[in-house]
Amino acid sequence: MIEDYFNTRPLPLISIKCNPYHLTDKCLILGDAAHAMVPFYGQGMNCGMEDVLVLTEMMFEKYPNDRLKAFEEYSKHRNPDAEAMCDLAMYNYIEMRDLTARLSFLIRKKLDNFLYWVFPRKWVPLYTSVTFTRMRYHHCISNKKWQDELLGKIGNFMAMSSLAAGVGGLFWLEANIQLSRSLLEKLNMMSFIEN
Ligand SMILES: Cc1cc2nc3c(=O)[nH]c(=O)nc-3n(C[C@H](O)[C@H](O)[C@H](O)COP(=O)(O)OP(=O)(O)OC[C@H]3O[C@@H](n4cnc5c(N)ncnc54)[C@H](O)[C@@H]3O)c2cc1C
Repeated sequence: MIEDYFNTRPLPLISIKCNPYHLTDKCLILGDAAHAMVPFYGQGMNCGMEDVLVLTEMMFEKYPNDRLKAFEEYSKHRNPDAEAMCDLAMYNYIEMRDLTARLSFLIRKKLDNFLYWVFPRKWVPLYTSVTFTRMRYHHCISNKKWQDELLGKIGNFMAMSSLAAGVGGLFWLEANIQLSRSLLEKLNMMSFIEN
């Protein structure tokens, strides 16, 4: 290990997106050869293993007698997920580098975990969907997108409601102040007449 360590030259991190993954029915690439990614999601190996699951399904379950068709369908099916995983790996670098220090991110994380606890089937946070489920990687991204949109709408609604409540409260306060003033004036008038 020591020898290997000192003999190995450090190399830059790369991200590969390519399509298709096959050449005729004789050759097909899987794993890093097809979709090397930056290591920040810790998914490179998992993604490669999932490639094998998908390829097995295509070759032995869906198209057992037509290898070219199996390869074509594999490329078609797998490409959006492999590319999505490359994007997610890059996104996780930004998340770890920058977002984790932001309060809004930490609140979102807590909210995500709470909603996942309440609706474990409906609300699956991004990291959980990528790391612990077989949800397709590009579905993990669209899943996060609708969650972001929904939370955005709820946030806007809450902001508008508190704004409306604040403005309503001011009007109410002003109306009450005027009412109390006119009552006071009436009381003053009455005591003046009585005197
Ligand atoms: C820093 C770092 C951290 C990572 N952390 C994680 C993690 O936490 N979780 C995770 O799932 N993944 C992680 N990965 C990714 C994971 O290591 C890779 O995705 C995985 O090893 C890819 O496997 P592979 O078989 O596709 O390619 P490789 O492991 O690269 O295997 C390819 C093999 O082919 C050999 N080879 C190359 N050219 C030839 C040739 N011409 N003839 C014969 N042989 C050849 C190479 O020597 C090599 O042994 C990490 C990667 C890095 C760099």
